[in-house]
Order: sequence, then C-alpha cells, then structure tokens
Amino acid sequence: MAFESLADRLQETFKKIRGKGKVSEADVKQMTREIRLALLEADVNFKVVKDFINRVKERAIGQEVLKSLTPGQQVIKVVQDELTELMGGEQSKLNLASKPPTVIMLVGLQGAGKTTSNGKLANYVRKQFNKNPLLVAADVYRPAAIKQLQTLGKQLNMPVFSLGEDADPVDIVAQSVEKAKEEHHDVVLIDTAGRLHVDEEMMEELQRIEAAVKPDETFLVVDAMTGQDAVNVAESFSERLNLTGVILTKLDGDTRGGAALSVKAVTGQPIKFAATGEKLDALEPFHPDRMASRILG
Ligand code: GDP
Repeated sequence: MAFESLADRLQETFKKIRGKGKVSEADVKQMTREIRLALLEADVNFKVVKDFINRVKERAIGQEVLKSLTPGQQVIKVVQDELTELMGGEQSKLNLASKPPTVIMLVGLQGAGKTTSNGKLANYVRKQFNKNPLLVAADVYRPAAIKQLQTLGKQLNMPVFSLGEDADPVDIVAQSVEKAKEEHHDVVLIDTAGRLHVDEEMMEELQRIEAAVKPDETFLVVDAMTGQDAVNVAESFSERLNLTGVILTKLDGDTRGGAALSVKAVTGQPIKFAATGEKLDALEPFHPDRMASRILG
C-alpha cells in the first residue's frame, strides 16, 4: 500500500500521545521530531517538512492544545489539519469552461502516465458530467504515442484527433479546438510530448501550445513513485507554464508518499486527481482530508 511506512510511523507516534491528559512542551517537541524524521524518510522535500513542522509546533504548543481538555487528541487533530492543508485543503474541482469546449492539457515527463490519464480523464468527464470529449494526439515525437491514444480512443469509443507525426503540435491543437466546436465536443483533452528529462525545447513547445489554446486546465502529471525527483520536475514545469493542478499517478504502487505531500507546496497548485491503476476507470478526484485520515489511521 502507498504510504505504508509513513502511516505506520506516524500512528506509532500518535499512540504515545493520544490518551494523554496532559501534554507538555517537551512531549510536543518529541512528537514533532518523530514526525519530521518520518516525513523525511517518506521522501518529502526538506523545505516542505521544515515549514510543516514549524506550523504544527506553533499550533501545538499554543493555547489551542496545551490548555485544552483533551490535549492528546487535540495535538493529533492539529497534525491532521496541517497534513490536509499540505495536500491542498479543500478538494479542488475540475474547472469546466462556461463556454464550451473546455480545453484540458496534460503535461509531464515521459512515463509519468499522461496518455493513460488522458483516457481516464475522458472517461471520467463523460461519466460524471455527461460530456462528449475529443482526445488530441499532440505528442508527435514518441512513435507509439499517437497509436497508444488511438487504442484508448477505441476502448472508450471516443474519437482521437491526429494530424500524424509530421505536423506541428501547435497546429494540431489549434485545429482540434476548431473541430471540437464544429462537431460539438464540449471537452478537448490534449496529450502533449514528454521527455525523459525536462528540456528547453519541450518547455517552449508547451508554452506555444498554451498560448495558442489557453487551456482551462493545465495538469502536470506526476508519478507518485518518483519521490524527490517529482519535486524538481514540478518546480520546472510550474516556472514555465500556468499549471492549474496536478494528477498524481501510480498511487496503487508502494510509494513512500513524498511527491503527494510536496507537490502542492512546490507548485502552489492542488492535486486534483489521483490515479490508482492502469485501467481506464482507475482515476478519482483527490480528497486531501481523506488521504490525511488514511495516513494517520
Ligand atoms: P506517458 O509517457 O506520460 O504518456 O505515460 P503512459 O500513459 O504511457 O504511462 C506509462 C506507464 O505507466 C504505462 O505502462 C501505464 O499503464 C502506467 N500507468 C499510468 N498510470 C498508472 C497508475 O495509476 N498505476 C499504475 N500501476 N500504472 C500506471
């Protein structure tokens, strides 16, 4: 299970403090030391950990906890609140355009799960909002990418817009939006090219696509298994693009959790969806509060 070791460690820490009728400042310090180590071991970015611990300490040593009637439980609630906040607080909804089509662009490194997530998201908006999506194959570099999207399109019985491998991705997306308008597709889902590493050419192309179609949502697709590296990737993308959210993939693996817990703080954008498998229905809206409860037991 994802977050297993983090969950185990935090639950162990809480056991010691849960029933306490009196919590001293030293108890809080001991607890935050343990939480700090658990988060670092889960590969959460160190700056994110530092800020998190400072906030927990400040609240836990303050009036809120030490003077309360059930300080043990109160201090745990502080950690739970802050963990929820760290992952984005309130659940963030999909932004659907008031005037269709809603344009959604997925960006990220190769292998993060962009193409698969495109199919899943298309499936989700059709089921959830009764939408009629158009999938757009704008990754012209990876030879199998167009084919992969077409296969997903077939499985979903959904059209895929492609101009082949020789077209300019900016032309592809611009034309796809026109086609969507003509054929009454109310959601356009753009599959963009990823590379193994962030590179200048890729960023410039994504910026050109962004400028051409002004997406309603630009989701960074992040592989939850990549830990610290996910933070660097997220930083690079958020510097260059107007990201509006994150899709966290592969949460079904045994991720330590670092990416899930760092990516909001680093990009300023919430995790909107979590993918938990390879199947087309393995995508769900991300609920920070539920994830925090799952981790804290
Ligand atoms: P892209 O290069 O970013 O377009 O990545 P793909 O969509 O091709 O995904 C890369 C691999 O990860 C594929 O084998 C997918 O089936 C797999 N994958 C994507 N999302 C998930 C997920 O949530 N869970 C698991 N277990 N595998 C996933």
